Amino acid sequence: MSRKTKTCFERAIFLSWYCSKGDCKFCYMSTQKSRISDPRLARRRLESVLAEALICKKFGWRVEFISGGYDSFSVDELVNITRLVYLITGQKQWLNVGVLSESELSRFKPFVEGVCGAVEIIEPVLHDAICPSKPLGEIEDMFLVCDRLGLKKAMTMIVGLGEKLSDFPLLVSFIRKYSVDKITFYRLKPQKGTPFTRGPDSDFYVEWVRRTRLAFPDIEIVVGSWLGHLEEISSLLEAGADSITKFPAIRYFGSEHAKIIESQAALAGRIFEGTLTDFRSFDPFEELKSLDLDSDLKQRIADKVFSYLKSMKRFA
Ligand code: SF4
Repeated sequence: MSRKTKTCFERAIFLSWYCSKGDCKFCYMSTQKSRISDPRLARRRLESVLAEALICKKFGWRVEFISGGYDSFSVDELVNITRLVYLITGQKQWLNVGVLSESELSRFKPFVEGVCGAVEIIEPVLHDAICPSKPLGEIEDMFLVCDRLGLKKAMTMIVGLGEKLSDFPLLVSFIRKYSVDKITFYRLKPQKGTPFTRGPDSDFYVEWVRRTRLAFPDIEIVVGSWLGHLEEISSLLEAGADSITKFPAIRYFGSEHAKIIESQAALAGRIFEGTLTDFRSFDPFEELKSLDLDSDLKQRIADKVFSYLKSMKRFA
């Protein structure tokens, strides 16, 4: 994808609503942990995950990464899910499932392009206060493992957690030191029950993206917005973002919100690859027939695809 002329939507595939860390101060999971007695019940079904992967492929959405809270799946299960998403999309995936060891990561290698470290906040004092159970040092160690295994590296950063623009050099040093290939910026969405009550101003958010692009002409930049802030997307793209994430694309497919995203891309002079508005039904059995999956799983994936398509048709 040419940065200057095109953009697209990247969808993170989430696997669960549980995280054994559960103490990042901004995170919705931190408000839910005490309510979940059995983490296995907070997991998505395999067919739902794989149906979503197929929807991504058919509507031209990239899978941003496969993401799940800590300890909601075993490594064996995660490897299998990643393998199947790779099989369905035909694309090597990015993994964002917490810190993994070298032996664990090497098992994912045939199916993944790279690994994402959920940095969230780069200023070290704030980081330790806001994400006490996921120290930066563990992510840094994992990035060194990625280098040994020949895997790419990505990071996430949430704008609005208290960092100042004067902290930008910390981000520059981190990206340089670990040769980070891809960064996803999110705007903070305050969650009920957390200490955060307001997100960042658009100008402040855009400035982080602009400075990052100026400092790193070749890094891949993904930006997330929220339904109430979609008009900032053209500015984020003009500031140098490559692609857009964090939009509930199945629920809001074809909606006014989806139309705004595509028109924001046009406003920034980008061609929008894939679609958030042009509904096309398809036969999941046809898509799955050549894949080495058992027939029961194919049936379950197809059932789920039909239910997603039904939901996507709502506004289309
Ligand atoms: S590790 Fe991730 S999912 Fe778990 S509490 Fe922190 S931000 Fe939320």
